[in-house]
Amino acid sequence: MAEPASSPISDATDPDVRREIIETVRRFVAREVIPVASEMEHADRFPAEIVEQMRELGLFGVTIPATYGGLGLDLLTYVGVIEELAYGWMSLTGIINTHTMAATLIMAHGTKEQRERWLPGLASGQPRGALSLSEPDAGSDTRNISCRATRDGDEYVITGTKAWVTNGERAGLVALAARTDEGVSAFIVEKEPGPQFEGIAVSKNVGKLGYRGIETVEMAYSDHRIPAANLIGESGRGLPQILGVLEIGRINIAARAVGVARAAFDAALSYAEQRKTFGKPIGEHQAIQLKLADMATRLQAARLLTRDAAERKAAGLRCDVEAGMAKLFASETALEVATESMRIHGGLGYTTELPVERFYRDAPLMVIGEGTNEIQRLVIARGLMARRRNP
Ligand SMILES: Cc1cc2nc3c(=O)[nH]c(=O)nc-3n(C[C@H](O)[C@H](O)[C@H](O)COP(=O)(O)OP(=O)(O)OC[C@H]3O[C@@H](n4cnc5c(N)ncnc54)[C@H](O)[C@@H]3O)c2cc1C
Repeated sequence: MAEPASSPISDATDPDVRREIIETVRRFVAREVIPVASEMEHADRFPAEIVEQMRELGLFGVTIPATYGGLGLDLLTYVGVIEELAYGWMSLTGIINTHTMAATLIMAHGTKEQRERWLPGLASGQPRGALSLSEPDAGSDTRNISCRATRDGDEYVITGTKAWVTNGERAGLVALAARTDEGVSAFIVEKEPGPQFEGIAVSKNVGKLGYRGIETVEMAYSDHRIPAANLIGESGRGLPQILGVLEIGRINIAARAVGVARAAFDAALSYAEQRKTFGKPIGEHQAIQLKLADMATRLQAARLLTRDAAERKAAGLRCDVEAGMAKLFASETALEVATESMRIHGGLGYTTELPVERFYRDAPLMVIGEGTNEIQRLVIARGLMARRRNP
């Protein structure tokens, strides 16, 4: 029987500690990430050395309680860390995102034995985690999940294909949604990193517009056996469990959107001060000032929505509406600010000389991932109506 922790993530980190951690990550990003991000992204190269340094900084266990070897910090700190990483290179936040969601699923719905078994490793970043919900015919429509987990004595036998598994190849632990007799259930699949593992075939990284350097793969399971003890929570309750965890994913997406928008804005502001046309810096032309003002205002609103959602989630309050609003607004902001930054840079913004084109290619993912923005609007509207019926 599962023994969920009452609130799996700390709800209050000392503000000085929070500031110090975020500052440390900001310095790390300035020193180690920004100088190499565009080159690695263009080459679609996995940033192994940076990931190793992220492990050393404890970033794979930011929200995992200290009793399990994590940093035990609150979601506001997590949001700050994600914003800083995304400021340097958005892909790094994806390496942490589904890892953190897998850990949160175990923290919130796993038994004491399951938490003790998997959390210390996840906190150290070895193994790395992935979360596998989507399938070729089940993206927005999660009710359509067809990957099957059939009970056979002390084991479940997994058969089916999962799509879009970020971190899937390098992960050693996958939180998997699969159909059992009782409905969709959540499982932990342990594997060796790599393209093949006992009944699991991992396809090659799908080519992507942006969000490169991190693998997103298809995973085909054929009669892959896992211990029955790897079922998380109750059989048939997997969807609400995973959807609850997706709120952390949406807050992550909102925070990374803020990071990308901030990077695009800072680049635009700096360029507006340097570039001269018609005898003065373009930042002194009113048309550019209007853009900068709108960009900065949206960025600040996105950041506040993201922090509000993080605080509510950490306090154990219902936050489906708030996480949805933060993800929706921040991702649309990233898209808009990246586009405006490119315009402000003129022809240079369209070249690979500057990172602005990368921000422009990275931003659309956030409109799609963790539930598209069309689906976010449905989540927000349904949540508002549910609260009205049941305040
Ligand atoms: C780079 C990348 C990484 C990803 N990583 C992961 C991962 O690690 N784990 C994972 O499980 N998934 C992952 N995903 C999958 C992602 O969550 C899905 O792509 C997303 O949920 C959309 O599903 P879909 O692609 O099947 O689109 P569809 O569901 O087919 O939607 C197509 C369009 O129809 C719209 N639509 C669908 N239903 C409705 C409706 N009811 N009302 C209005 N509009 C609707 C959608 O908004 C969209 O515009 C990843 C995706 C990408 C692109």
